[in-house]
Amino acid sequence: MDAQVTRPTSANSQTRNAGYATQPPLQRFLASCHEEFKADDSGNVADYIPELKRADPSHFGIALVTIDGHIYEVGDSAVPFTIQSVSKAFVFALALEMVGEERVAATIGVEPSGEAFNSIRLTSDNRPFNPMVNAGAIACSGLIHEVDGADAFERIREKLSQFAGRQLGVDDAVHQSEVITGNRNRAIAWLLRNYSVIQGDVDAVLDTYFRQCAVLVTARDLAVMAATLANRGINPVTGVQVIAPNVVARTLSVMTSSGMYDYAGEWVYRVGMPAKSGVGGGIVAALPSQIGLGTFSPRLDSHGNSARGLKVCEALSSRFDLHMLNRSADVRTCVIADYDLFGISSRRSRQPHEQQILDEHHSDIRVIELVGALNFAAIDYVTRRLAGEPPNAPLLVLDFRRVPDLTSAGAQLLGENLTILGNAGVTAILTGIEATSAVWLAIRARTGEPHRLRRFALLDEAIEWAEDQIVYRYGGFTVSKETSHLGEQALLAELTPDEIAALADLSTARRYEAGQRIISAGEPANSLFFLQNGMVSVKLPSGVRLASLGPGMEFGEMAIIEQRRSADVWADTQVKCLELPLDSFADYRQLHPQIAMKIMRNLSALLARRLILANAKVDLLSAY
Ligand code: GLU
Repeated sequence: MDAQVTRPTSANSQTRNAGYATQPPLQRFLASCHEEFKADDSGNVADYIPELKRADPSHFGIALVTIDGHIYEVGDSAVPFTIQSVSKAFVFALALEMVGEERVAATIGVEPSGEAFNSIRLTSDNRPFNPMVNAGAIACSGLIHEVDGADAFERIREKLSQFAGRQLGVDDAVHQSEVITGNRNRAIAWLLRNYSVIQGDVDAVLDTYFRQCAVLVTARDLAVMAATLANRGINPVTGVQVIAPNVVARTLSVMTSSGMYDYAGEWVYRVGMPAKSGVGGGIVAALPSQIGLGTFSPRLDSHGNSARGLKVCEALSSRFDLHMLNRSADVRTCVIADYDLFGISSRRSRQPHEQQILDEHHSDIRVIELVGALNFAAIDYVTRRLAGEPPNAPLLVLDFRRVPDLTSAGAQLLGENLTILGNAGVTAILTGIEATSAVWLAIRARTGEPHRLRRFALLDEAIEWAEDQIVYRYGGFTVSKETSHLGEQALLAELTPDEIAALADLSTARRYEAGQRIISAGEPANSLFFLQNGMVSVKLPSGVRLASLGPGMEFGEMAIIEQRRSADVWADTQVKCLELPLDSFADYRQLHPQIAMKIMRNLSALLARRLILANAKVDLLSAY
C-alpha cells in the first residue's frame, strides 16, 4: 500500500500535493504548532544515560497518521532517536499476545503506581504496579524471554518493526551506555528475580530490555505505531494486522492510566488520549478509530515528558476537541434504507404471472440497508426497529455492504435477534459480506437457527433469491417453458401474424451452451435476439449484472439505437433463440417500414418502463 504523505517542506511532496490549492487544514495546524512551540526551550535533555546527552536539543518533529493511512509530517519527523519507554506499550502488547492475559496478569498489575518510572517499589503481593514503569516493562521482557530465550530481542524488534511498518535498527552506543550505567534497573531486575517475577537469566532479560529501549525510531514511525493501535491493530500504512483488537484495548488502557509518568492523571484530564512517552524525547498518542500522533523533541519537563511534544498534544486535543470521552453518536444513522419490494425488484426480469405474484406480496420481503461500524447500541436500535412496525416480513434482507465492522457485542445481540426471528419463521438474508468475513462468521456463530440464515455477496442476488421464494410459495414457479412463438415477445406486440412470419423468415435459429458468451461489450451491434428457451444474463464487463432474462424476452435490442454493444450477454442455461440481423430494418424489401415502426414504438414503451423503475429506485433511496 502506498502511503500518502503531506509534508510541505520537501520539494517532492509539493509535487505530490500539487492538487491542493492550499494545504489541508490539519497540515497547517501542525505546521503552526511546530512554529509556535519550537520557540519553547524549557526542559532538559535526559542525562542519566550518558549517551542520551548527545541529543540535539533543538530537534523537533511532529507526525500524524490517520487510520486510512495518510501521513502528515512537520519538522524533524525523520530524525532517528531511541524509543526508550515508548517501547513499553508495544512490548506489553507483544507479551499479551505471546503468553496470554492470565499469565501477564499473574506477573504484572495494571494500577497506576503514583511513583517515578524507575521506582523500585512493588505492590503488596510483590508484582510490578503496571507495565508502563520500568519494573513492569522488565517483567514483560522477562515473559518474552521465557518463551524465546536468546531470540527474545529479535522477536521484540520484529514486532516493533511491524507496528512501524519498516525494519527498525538499534543505537548500539545508547544500548552500551545503558548497559554500563543501568544499575538501578539491574537492582529492579534482581528484586523481580527474588520474587520469581523474572524466572530466567536476569542479565539476559535486562539486556533484552536495554536493547528494546535503544531501538531507533522517528516521529513518523511513532505516529504509524500509534495509528496501528488506533486502528484496532491493523497498520493503516501497510495493511498488516499487527496485533489482535482485544490486546489493543488492554494496551490502550494501561497507556491511559499510566503512560505519562506521574503526569498521567493530569494528561487524561487535559488531553484525553492514550499515550506513552520516553526519555529519548518521543511521545505516542493514539485516539481510537481516528488518529495516531508521534512527536519528538528531546528536552524533557520535570515529569520526564517531552516539553514540546506535550504542548503539541494539548493543542491538538483542545483545538479539535479530541478528548476520547467527549464522543457523540446517533444510532439511528446506521439504517440508511428500510423498504419492501413495492415498485422495485431484483435485476431478474420476470414472466408476467411471476411479476403479478411479486406485486401482490411485495411486503413479504423487507430490506434494511445498514451503514457504518456497528456496535452494541447501533444493533440494539436495529433490533428494536425489527420489533416495531411494520410486522415481520417472512424474508428479511440485511445489507452489510457499507458495514466495515461489527463489534462482538453487536454480533451477539444480532445473533440472538435472528434466532428469535428464525423461530418465528423469518428467514434472514445477509448481503454484502463474503463467506470468510469476520462479520459473517461472528453473526453465524451466534445464530441458533442456521437454516434460517443465508448469505449473498450482492444485495441484488439476495433480492432475487427472496423473490424466488415468494414466487415458489405462491405456486408461480413453472419450469421455464419454450416460447418459440414470436408473437409472445414484448418487442413484437401489435405485429400481425403475417408480419411475425416475415420476421421469423429473416431470423436465424441459434443455440448456446450454459456459460457461453452470446454478445460481447464493445462489438459492433448488428442484430437483436429473441429468447425462446433458457435464461441469459446481461452483465457489464466488470461482472455486475444488469438483468437476467427468460423466454419471451429480447436482448441486444439496444442495437436498434446504439452502434456498439454496451454489455456482455451470457447464457446461464442452455439457450435457444432467434437472431434478427439489423440490416433488414434498413432495407424495406426485407422488413416493411411499418413493422420497423411498430418495433420502435414497442422499444420506446420498454425503455419508458425501465426508466420508471429506475426512477422509483432513485426516489426510494433519496427518501433516506
Ligand atoms: N531505558 C530507560 C530506563 O530504563 C527508559 C526510561 C524511559 O524512557 O522512561 O531508564
